[in-house]
Amino acid sequence: MDPTYTEQAEAFRRKIRDFLSEQLPADWSGMGALSPGERTAFIARWRPVLAEHGLLAVAWPERYGGAGLSMLERTVLAEEFAKAGVPTGNDNDIFSIGMLGHTLIEWGTEEQQQHFLPRILDGTDVWCQGYSEPNSGSDLASLATRAELDGDEWLINGQKIWTSQGHNANWIFVLCRTDPTVRKQAGISFLLCPLDQPGVEVRPIVNASGHHDFNEVFFTDARTGRDNVVGGVNNGWAVSNTLLAYERGDDATITGIRHGDELRRLIAVARDRGRIDDPLIRQRLAWCYTKVQIMRYQGLRMVTDALNGYHQGPESSLNKLLWSEYHQRLTELAIELIGAEAMTPSGRDAASGVGLDDVGSPYSSAAWVTTFMGARPATIYSGSSEIQRNIVGERVLGLPREPRNDTGPWNETVRS
Ligand SMILES: Cc1cc2nc3c(=O)[nH]c(=O)nc-3n(C[C@H](O)[C@H](O)[C@H](O)COP(=O)(O)OP(=O)(O)OC[C@H]3O[C@@H](n4cnc5c(N)ncnc54)[C@H](O)[C@@H]3O)c2cc1C
Repeated sequence: MDPTYTEQAEAFRRKIRDFLSEQLPADWSGMGALSPGERTAFIARWRPVLAEHGLLAVAWPERYGGAGLSMLERTVLAEEFAKAGVPTGNDNDIFSIGMLGHTLIEWGTEEQQQHFLPRILDGTDVWCQGYSEPNSGSDLASLATRAELDGDEWLINGQKIWTSQGHNANWIFVLCRTDPTVRKQAGISFLLCPLDQPGVEVRPIVNASGHHDFNEVFFTDARTGRDNVVGGVNNGWAVSNTLLAYERGDDATITGIRHGDELRRLIAVARDRGRIDDPLIRQRLAWCYTKVQIMRYQGLRMVTDALNGYHQGPESSLNKLLWSEYHQRLTELAIELIGAEAMTPSGRDAASGVGLDDVGSPYSSAAWVTTFMGARPATIYSGSSEIQRNIVGERVLGLPREPRNDTGPWNETVRS
């Protein structure tokens, strides 16, 4: 591993730092210092500023509104934004830009790229992810949502679930069964479908911490254009895997930065509670510190790979495993340090019901309790830990494959 950024990437870093110091107030300490209302208003103002400066999707080609820069420069931007505690977009951009955008650049037709990519950047189209179904999560290829051609349109029937930010989206990328007669992975297509139509119903699901982050999506004769299939009919499995690698490995270098910031906040809690000299607490904090350092080095290894022209594939599962399992243990320690206050939490809530609180957040027991709850699903979403271990074993280490039941044709009765 040679984690040396190129001179070009370092020059870009200086440009980003200048941009941030021009755009942010002198006393800026991160999004965590804002109230929920101020946070929403900040993101609404901030996103168009990023778009105007070509910083929303820097790795996209310029002809689609990107900056035509490398994935390494994109990483540099994400690092500097994470250190400053500002978002790289809104809550749906992880789906719109990070997942769909990059996947369309790899798999989309020129017409699809020209139509959809600029509409993401100007905020016309806001995306969510329609993969999981009530009976198809880990075994995603068993999915049952059907799409059939009806003249110039696809007719979609079925149900998706756990659709994060679906209530803020107006489009969904949806995996559908388009050929039920072949091996299950071979009969899937990756369709782009508008949500704002009579055939689609988005129903909220409220999670354990009381947040509305995800939804169920019902399709009843929903329609989308015949051309809105990405990567070719019945080739959706390959397209969906490209997207999953972006989902699992995205911005690995910022993982260490954000978790490092959170760990510093937890150390402040231990100090405040007079527990910082307790050897058992110190040992657990030291364990957390070593994990954050490993996250940092995994991120730097990704940078080295990117410099050598290699974009992460199944190795991205290693990053996902590390941070998701670490975060559960860190938040358990947080709850122990807070003690009885965790039973009667008070103060500001965390920014999100899933994942880390914002950089710059002041202490609040309510925020730590929400972060504790939000760490639980991390070993489930984007593929559970067991599935990540299967991927690492089979596709990274080349170990023998798990016995599987998915080699025959797709069969709805067998599946249920
Ligand atoms: C917060 C959150 C947000 C999400 N957002 C989205 C979203 O936006 N869009 C979307 O499409 N989906 C989303 N999901 C769904 C997520 O991808 C699935 O929950 C996940 O893939 C697991 O599927 P499942 O819940 O059906 O569990 P199951 O697949 O039923 O798994 C149940 C248990 O069995 C284990 N298991 C299953 N198969 C194996 C195996 N072969 N070997 C060993 N163990 C196995 C699993 O690890 C798990 O412990 C989200 C989930 C969460 C929690």
